[in-house]
Amino acid sequence: DILPIRRALLSVSDKTGLVELAKALAAHGAELLSTGGSAKALRDAGLTVIEVSDHTGFPEILDGRVKTLVPQIHGGILGRRDLPEHVAQMDQHSIAPIDLVCVNLYPFEATVASGADVADCIEKIDIGGPALIRAAAKNHPHVAILTDPTQYQALIDSVKTLRGTTLADRRSWAGTAYARTATYDAAITAWFSAERGDLLPVRMVVGGTRAEALRYGENPHQKAAFYTDGSGRPGIATATQIQGKALSYNNLNDTDAAFEAVAEFEHPAVVIVKHANPCGVATAADLETAWDLALRCDPVSAFGGIVAVNRTLDEAAALRIVKIFTEVIVAPDATDAARLVLAAKKNLRLLLTGAMPDPSAPAVQIKSVAGGFLAQTRDNGSPGDLKVVTRRAPTDAELADLIIAFRVAKHVKSNAIVYVKDGATVGVGAGQMSRVDSARIAASKSAEAAKAAGLEGRLTEGSVVASDAFFPFVDGLEIAIEAGATAVIQPGGSIRDAEIIAAADKAGVAMVFTGMRHFRH
Ligand code: 5GP
Repeated sequence: DILPIRRALLSVSDKTGLVELAKALAAHGAELLSTGGSAKALRDAGLTVIEVSDHTGFPEILDGRVKTLVPQIHGGILGRRDLPEHVAQMDQHSIAPIDLVCVNLYPFEATVASGADVADCIEKIDIGGPALIRAAAKNHPHVAILTDPTQYQALIDSVKTLRGTTLADRRSWAGTAYARTATYDAAITAWFSAERGDLLPVRMVVGGTRAEALRYGENPHQKAAFYTDGSGRPGIATATQIQGKALSYNNLNDTDAAFEAVAEFEHPAVVIVKHANPCGVATAADLETAWDLALRCDPVSAFGGIVAVNRTLDEAAALRIVKIFTEVIVAPDATDAARLVLAAKKNLRLLLTGAMPDPSAPAVQIKSVAGGFLAQTRDNGSPGDLKVVTRRAPTDAELADLIIAFRVAKHVKSNAIVYVKDGATVGVGAGQMSRVDSARIAASKSAEAAKAAGLEGRLTEGSVVASDAFFPFVDGLEIAIEAGATAVIQPGGSIRDAEIIAAADKAGVAMVFTGMRHFRH
């Protein structure tokens, strides 16, 4: 099943490695066919090459929209060498067999990511390229298909040592080829989907390009990989890793959660995440102060956490952060002095994204379920006008903290209860099956945190509290009031709202409704 390559078609946008590949093919005795730009690159390197237009007797037309979409090319790729009728028809129409196709596509994804206009993006939708790839991959029993420069060396080795390609390699390359065209069409679909502002189905299934194989998944016996969707949204997909060990699946998941959360704040902010939940969030005049406040919320959980900041990381903040064991720091940028501080911690991973994501930007989220996927637009909502429902309206200071608390609650797994005081969380109750438990856990952890900070009582004294969804019963609210909360923010909408508002009024607590829920599972 080793097939020699008598004729190869090379048509690539990314010319990386093209000349080396072509030289090996020429040495192997293959005739080289190529389209305009690729042919020129080969001729410039001193290789003998036949232009597709000379081979077919038909010129490239319509600004290159039609170059290889002709029977001489597609017949040469698709003809079955094992069927006498196919061979006879190819002879009859003077169609020469093509044994290797090497194509990489117009850079549609990169063009979209560069912010190009609609006309530019459309012109970068490759038509002939995917047709060549799909044809060659279909006929892989007879034809080899390469779609990426990373594959060239294996082909070169194969023609040098085996004088051809093996069926096993051709079949493997065929699978990769369809992955490429599927991803390419998914990127195009995603672009149309974003333009339309809704969910088109293809993206859900194959909406990504594999960026990196990960050592393992959530646990060592699981396989995992990281895929990028080509949107260019600032975050883990665009980050540069400056230092530290390779990122794990859990690191990526937690870093994403932390960075998305910290992007919600205008003022300098720090978010510390453990197991995808924030265990400390604070905004302050500078990152150093914000770090101290975020850490105070739950110093036990912060150990081994992921730290996200929404400003250029400075030396003062870096000096504070390195005092405790941290897995990852993610920031838009870092000063040279801060980098120097972090460099002393060899294992600490530092990711710099260059920019902050826009929390209101639309995107699609995917979650797998047995036998399928769930897809939804991401929770890019934020409540509009808040409705005061109690006799007492929140003070300005309470209102500022309420807004922060509700933004944090959006990033805490449900049921989420978040206590905030002076711009910093002082208690986070996450992921409980009952809202009462979340309220209670947050308050009791806050008492421990106060003790750790050498303070009397609880940090929740005089705080405000947010609930990601309405209080179904009064009990959750009663626990928050008991913990010392003086103002409450929640969506409202429970059939017991009247009872809950009455309980707040009785305690002199101010309450506002957002009319928007932030479940997160
Ligand atoms: P070149 O730089 O060689 O002129 O063009 C190479 C690119 O053209 C490759 O990315 C290939 O996928 C694409 N291509 C090859 N044939 C066709 C065709 O018939 N129509 C279009 N639109 N693109 C083609």
